[in-house]
Amino acid sequence: MPALPPPTASLEERLKRLALVAERSSNAVLLASADRRVEWVNDAFITLTGLSAQESIGERFGVLLARGSADPSAFEQFAQAVHQGRGLKREINIRATSGLARWALVDLQPMHGALGELSGWVLVATDLTDVRAQQQLLSLAVDGAGLGTWQWDVPNGAMQCNDRLLQIMGYERAQMGMSAKAWNARIHPEDFHAWIDAVKAQLKDPAVPLRMSIRLRHGSERWVWIMFVGAVVDRSIDGSPLQMAGVALDVQAQKAMEHELRVAARTDGLTQLPNRSVLLQAIELAIQRRRAQPGYQYAVLFMDFDRFKHVNDTLGHSVGDALLRQIATRLQDSLRPGDRLIHTSDFAHLAARIGGDEFVVLLDDIRGDLDAEMVASRLIDMLSLPYTIGSHRVVSSVSIGIVTSSHAAEDADSVLRDADIAMYEAKRTGRARYVLFDPSMRQQVNASVSLESDLRQALDQNELFVVYQPLVDLHSGAFAGVEALMRWRHPQRGMVSPVEFIPVAEANGLIGALGQFVLQTACKAFAAMAFGTLQGRQPTLAVNLSRAQLLQAGLVADVQDALRANGLSPDQLVLEVTESLAAQDAQVIDTLHAIRGLGVALSLDDFGTGYSSLSCLHALPVNFVKVDRSFVSMAQSSDYHRVLIEATIRMAQTLGLETVAEGIETEGQASLMAALGCDKGQGYLFSRPLEPDALMAWVQAR
Ligand code: C2E
Ligand code: MG
Ligand code: MG
Repeated sequence: MPALPPPTASLEERLKRLALVAERSSNAVLLASADRRVEWVNDAFITLTGLSAQESIGERFGVLLARGSADPSAFEQFAQAVHQGRGLKREINIRATSGLARWALVDLQPMHGALGELSGWVLVATDLTDVRAQQQLLSLAVDGAGLGTWQWDVPNGAMQCNDRLLQIMGYERAQMGMSAKAWNARIHPEDFHAWIDAVKAQLKDPAVPLRMSIRLRHGSERWVWIMFVGAVVDRSIDGSPLQMAGVALDVQAQKAMEHELRVAARTDGLTQLPNRSVLLQAIELAIQRRRAQPGYQYAVLFMDFDRFKHVNDTLGHSVGDALLRQIATRLQDSLRPGDRLIHTSDFAHLAARIGGDEFVVLLDDIRGDLDAEMVASRLIDMLSLPYTIGSHRVVSSVSIGIVTSSHAAEDADSVLRDADIAMYEAKRTGRARYVLFDPSMRQQVNASVSLESDLRQALDQNELFVVYQPLVDLHSGAFAGVEALMRWRHPQRGMVSPVEFIPVAEANGLIGALGQFVLQTACKAFAAMAFGTLQGRQPTLAVNLSRAQLLQAGLVADVQDALRANGLSPDQLVLEVTESLAAQDAQVIDTLHAIRGLGVALSLDDFGTGYSSLSCLHALPVNFVKVDRSFVSMAQSSDYHRVLIEATIRMAQTLGLETVAEGIETEGQASLMAALGCDKGQGYLFSRPLEPDALMAWVQAR
């Protein structure tokens, strides 16, 4: 319907309709005569001003304005316009009769007759109070939130913004350049296209929101993250955009935090190495690459420190943490390219910590399994050198399980699990070594779960027995004694190593019974063998004690019983305790003294692998020091190990202790140990551990 009545309608009709529009308008309308007397007001005028029709009609509108305007200068302007017979439009602050202040846009226009003479006045006032309140609220919100605001005049490219946005971007207004082109030139190249696309999308379709964080070149030259939210706020009739406006938010801190969180989610906090999830992703990529490119090879090396738990338990977690950090550093140093021995620079690697003392290295694009084995043996050498943490010296060997692409499973989790299995195999078969994974190892793992329950039956089923490894005098070659070593013949698994089942027995409380069994069995067998006296010296029987046994109350009485029951004299028995164990607590030291009190000798086993240094030797009530197999095996190739053995022997001699070298496998090792002044030796060179009959035969043959 057309807004105005058609010209065919009578004048009277048209006036009536216009009057109706004026009456119903939500704007206040006032009509006045040429001499400015009010002739008519509508309802909206009454509402806005609070003046009744009677109060208004007949009054000069100037009087009404003067009364209602809270701003004298505005009134002054209107008075002047009226005087000059021209129109005026401006915002004024009205004081309504209710006392309420309101804002209105007042438009006062003269009306003219047919001859151009002034015939009256029309005043239309629009109530802006609510709009202004909203604007004020908005600007409060914008200020309060530290928001930048911006407007873009689309056709001519001019930009406008508030001071806050300049401040976020780090520019003075004059430096900024108020054109879209100048602004776009500051966008980070990586964000540029996405931003332009997002703007275009909003220009075309108002339903597509524009909301994007981008990096802009800050006035100080660095990049800052700013979030822009905007929309087209004005379009021409044909729909083409005229103006876009929006807010901008400084999201630099938030982005920095997001970045930190992302890094944290990928990094092990203690060592700053990548964590398990990064490693799994990298393995997954290697698996995929192998599928696409069968010639490509990789390897996963799973490392575990053989003594870490012990360090943590006895020296505390802060020492444990420091050890892990040193291990991580050393691990990275060992893998650093440019090494003369292994050209690790030939292939990429990733070292990660996946928990506890478990570190994993992924070797990428290797030439074959040999590369992995070379890296593994280098890591074993490097990581087994002693660590100095505060006043402690910690030595820990490392065991490595390797999965290479030739035996790798189909997914990263399984590859890692298999590498873990191979690592356990390395531990089980003697530690300080690496083992290549082979799929047959998976069954063994399943079996180990039942180990614990099987061990309970082992004693009753006579599956446990004791073997004896001879010790010889390194200078005369004479038989000097035996060490009793426990064995378990498992009905399904075959021979199970004490390295495997003794920790299980310690954990489930069976160690007391097992220890009793060894002590009784060994003493009985040793008495039966009746070696007599050899060259004035009696051969000795050495029996190992575990940590849990040393903490058991009845130990000393058990030892006494075993000697008495089998008719052995105390000086025929030696009890072996490990180095780290002996150094620990007062209760253990008391027990050791009580054992010595019986006349039984003590031997410090596996010396060199713990961290109670040479200086502690004198504080322990021991008679023998057994140099660990790992030192003996390294003595010929490593200066460090040889020097430490020499120092140990010299210190032992000073303290009047005898020394025993463990794990002698070659003549070379035997003569080196003898040359270094070691008294006794034990190892496969002389004999493997034997059952009593075989031992007797061995002794007689000697
Ligand atoms: P250990 O007391 O240090 O015993 C020496 C280990 O080295 C034995 O391993 C022995 O078989 C092995 N060995 C000896 N000569 C050589 C050699 O030339 N080369 C190599 N590679 N190895 C050699 P086994 O019998 O497997 O025992 C391992 C560990 O288990 C023992 O280390 C000891 O700590 C513990 N153990 C064994 N029997 C008992 C026991 O009855 N009670 C307790 N508490 N622990 C035991
Ligand atoms: Mg021993
Ligand atoms: Mg030993």
